[in-house]
Amino acid sequence: MKCKICNREAINEYCELHEKANKSIMDKYNTWKKALNVSWKEYLNEIAKNPYTGSSAKELAEHLKKGG
Ligand SMILES: [Zn+2]
Repeated sequence: MKCKICNREAINEYCELHEKANKSIMDKYNTWKKALNVSWKEYLNEIAKNPYTGSSAKELAEHLKKGG
């Protein structure tokens, strides 16, 4: 099975790189949700446009925005 984002071999839905990005995005969202009242979509937009976001997290955010 291939990663949903790139063509690397997937662990579950994603490859190791994107699994890691997914975990950090989820963890961060839990923190954000408590501190700020942001929706999942707003959060993903922030991730996608943040210049400090790593490229794998950005790719994941773009993917999740499309509803994947
Ligand atoms: Zn991947």
